[in-house]
Amino acid sequence: MPELPEVETIVRELRQDIIGRTIVAVRFLNRSIWRRGAPAKKHLIGASISSLERRGKNILVTLSNGRVMIVHLKMTGRLTYQGPNDRIRKHTHLVIDLDSGQIRFNDTRRFGYLDLVAPEQLDTLDYLSILGPDALFISREDFVTMVRSKKRIIKSLLLDQSILAGMGNIYSDETLFVAGIDPRRVGAGLSRERVGRLHQAMIAVLNNAIGARGSSMNDYVDARGEKGSYQDQRLVYGREGQPCKKCGRKIKREIIGSRSCHFCASCQR
Ligand SMILES: [Zn+2]
Repeated sequence: MPELPEVETIVRELRQDIIGRTIVAVRFLNRSIWRRGAPAKKHLIGASISSLERRGKNILVTLSNGRVMIVHLKMTGRLTYQGPNDRIRKHTHLVIDLDSGQIRFNDTRRFGYLDLVAPEQLDTLDYLSILGPDALFISREDFVTMVRSKKRIIKSLLLDQSILAGMGNIYSDETLFVAGIDPRRVGAGLSRERVGRLHQAMIAVLNNAIGARGSSMNDYVDARGEKGSYQDQRLVYGREGQPCKKCGRKIKREIIGSRSCHFCASCQR
C-alpha cells in the first residue's frame, strides 16, 4: 500500500508534468470509484492544473476554477501521467485528457477513491479533517509530546492517521528498527530521549524512501509508471527469517495491534 514516500514521489513528479496543463476532455470509465458519484464534466473541462499537494496519503489537485480533485490510492491505486497513445490498461477508471498528455487513475482492487469538491467544502471533508500532523513535518517537540501522552503501543500510534498522517506498515517497521525501539513498547513508557531518536529515525527513513522514489514490493509505480527502489535497501519490512543487518539474528514477524510487524528482538528494546 502506498505510504507517504510513494504519494510524495507521485506529487513531485506530477508537479513537473501537469501544472499549467489544461483539461480538454474527461472519460469516466467506472463511475463507482468516485466517492460521491462522478462530478459534472463542466467542473473539470476547460480548467487548468494550478497546484498539487499531499495531505497524509491523499493527493490534492487544485484546478484554476478553484475546485480540488482528491485522489487516495489505498491498496493498488495508480495515478499516472501518460501519452495519449499509451495502451489503456485494464482497471483504468478515469482518463483526463490534457492539452498535452493524460492523467489516468487505475486501481485493480478498487479500494482507492476520487473526489471533486468546491474550495469551501475542503475543510468539511471527514477523511481530510481527521488527519493528524504530517509525519514528515511534525516538529521533534510535538512528536515527543504526542507519543509520550499516549498509553498505546508505539506501532499502533505510528499507524493511526488521526495522530500522525502518512505512515504505514513498511515505514513504521523501518523507523522502529532504526530507532532501536521494540514495536510493542507503550508510547507513555518511552523516555524523551528515545522518542526524540524515534523522530529523527522517522524523518531519515521517510527522506531516504522519497530519495529512492518509494517501495515497489507489490503494485506501486510512480506517476511515470516506474517502480521505486526502497525495497532493495529495506532493513526489516518483509525480511522475516532473514538475518538482521545489525546483529545477524533472524528478523521476526508478529501481529501487533492487528498489524503485521517485522522487527529484531535483539536490537529493538
Ligand atoms: Zn538485530
